[in-house]
Amino acid sequence: MSHEPPSTRPASESEAKAEAGTIATDGSAEADVHRVRIDQDDELDRMRYRCPNNHTRWVPTNNHLYCHSCADLADACEGPEYYELLDVKTSERIAWSRVVLE
Ligand SMILES: [Zn+2]
Repeated sequence: MSHEPPSTRPASESEAKAEAGTIATDGSAEADVHRVRIDQDDELDRMRYRCPNNHTRWVPTNNHLYCHSCADLADACEGPEYYELLDVKTSERIAWSRVVLE
């Protein structure tokens, strides 16, 4: 007796992305227009996108980013947590909601 599994199977790629980080769904259509993709394993991306204080040692948290360099600075006025990244190539500040980490 053969019982074939259903041909439809979950896309493992999208599942992995869903687990990697929770993406806010509200206003996502609008964010799609100016979406900025950052490859965390790409050194060029790491050097280009920095915390607003020009550091590269930031890490993503739940819905914002945390900068270890700022955390080490006693006089960091803005604090180690940010909701935007600095694009050193264009000097543009990128809202965290627009960032897609890959
Ligand atoms: Zn910093």
